[in-house]
Amino acid sequence: MTTPVYENFINGHFLKNQTGDTFAVTNPATGEVIYHVEIADEFIQNAAIESAKQGFAAWSAMTPIERSRILLKAVAILRERNDELAKVEVLDTGKPWQEAECVDVETGADVIEYFAGLAPAQVGQQQIVGNDFYYTRKEPLGICAGIGAWNYPLQIACWKSGPALAAGNAVIFKPSEETPLGAIKLAEIFIEAGVPAGVFNVVQGAAEVGQWLTANPNIEKVSFTGEVGTGKKVMASAAGSLKDVTMELGGKSPLLVFDDADVSQAVSAAMLGNFYTQGEICTNCTRIYVHKNVYQQFIDELKTRTEQNIIAGDPMDPEVNLGALISKKHQELVLGYIDKGIQEGATLLTGGKALSPASAPNGYFVEPTVFVDCKDDMTIVKEEIFGPVMSVLVFDDEDDVIQRANDTHLGLAAGVFTKDIQRAHRVIHQLQAGICWINSYGNSPAEMPVGGYKQSGIGRENGIETLDHYTQTKSIYVGMSNIESPF
Ligand code: NDP
Repeated sequence: MTTPVYENFINGHFLKNQTGDTFAVTNPATGEVIYHVEIADEFIQNAAIESAKQGFAAWSAMTPIERSRILLKAVAILRERNDELAKVEVLDTGKPWQEAECVDVETGADVIEYFAGLAPAQVGQQQIVGNDFYYTRKEPLGICAGIGAWNYPLQIACWKSGPALAAGNAVIFKPSEETPLGAIKLAEIFIEAGVPAGVFNVVQGAAEVGQWLTANPNIEKVSFTGEVGTGKKVMASAAGSLKDVTMELGGKSPLLVFDDADVSQAVSAAMLGNFYTQGEICTNCTRIYVHKNVYQQFIDELKTRTEQNIIAGDPMDPEVNLGALISKKHQELVLGYIDKGIQEGATLLTGGKALSPASAPNGYFVEPTVFVDCKDDMTIVKEEIFGPVMSVLVFDDEDDVIQRANDTHLGLAAGVFTKDIQRAHRVIHQLQAGICWINSYGNSPAEMPVGGYKQSGIGRENGIETLDHYTQTKSIYVGMSNIESPF
């Protein structure tokens, strides 16, 4: 059986490359190649830039309300096609249908809708200075690059294009080589909604296509989602032409469970924050610090619920709530971390092995895994694993656990479970993380800014402030009287 071949999406349509080079995309739940994609060669790269220049000229000349109207049409189409798009995401990522059906498309559409609504509300300032005055304009940056990770491909494309397009920019987006289809679908939807050709181009390929984007002098900004190490390379390359950057990077986030917490709720948060999307979520609370007084109760319930309530298998089965990891290589990496945890003396409470469910025997599954007896200096406690692997640690002192929670170069997210309202805020204010939850974990509405402290990122996505990251301020001084000149 021949599989489809997708070309790059440039200037409103698919465009064939000249080299004929392609890469294969595999369904992680079956191990089968499902389609091929053409790599963006020099011809495609040049075409992407030329068309983005034209797209930017047309798009930035429209009024914000016209842009808003068009983006809202795209939002309606995204919602109409929810199931078709969710299926694309399940086949590309291996995540369960029961998640993609209600999260991936919806949270992407929400963000475009949010920024479409904000676009006409952007205003400059004016101020009188003596007899003169000045005013400011919020102007778009120009051509922005978006580079995405593979865990939420369509959502990431929406989160980057929503504010960028609302502010009047053009975007060249490179999805991960593992999950290239969602961004193409979004590009088609933008065209159908009336976004001018060239405003959202999709270029395909691996690191070298990303490197080309980050180095290209025609591009004014790079918004990147991916690993910390790659983020550093992207930033270094972007510095060559002094591009603006937004960095959404990895995490090793702590969840603190105090002894007055609702333990069942805390267990729910810990399971969501480690096993949702089979653990491939940047904000996951992979370090769970539990107060010694509730530790036994916490791990007993955690073990029972992990062993009884998780169903791995064909991700398209609506009953399945644990999908396959993105690739064989990533599955091996995660299993390697589990081996390391055992070698370094942590105790497996449950899980720890690869899984071969009857309905998806060739998929790259890993059992939901919980380690106890963990120490702060173990590799599994220090490094981002990006799989269904949770480390549980014990504490008995508030100041001490805050210091332990902060003892990392990462700072993406953090959470606290306690019924003491003062402690909840006191503790969360001291945690060094950009995205925090109290008696909750993982919710990320369009209205709430998200991004990391320390090496977890720079800048923010979502929330009002993100629009500012896609504009530049022009100050215009207006002289109202004769110039006083010594010349
Ligand atoms: P990577 O850093 O490996 O890749 C991210 C993207 O960058 C991919 O499109 C990749 O291409 C591309 N890329 C790779 N090398 C370069 C380079 N030198 N220059 C430019 N682009 C490059 O991340 P993953 O895809 O493995 O994603 C997982 C990571 O993403 C985790 O660390 C996770 O925490 C983080 N993440 C952060 C989020 C946040 O909002 N903070 C959200 C989601 C994930 P290709 O894959 O095709 O090689």
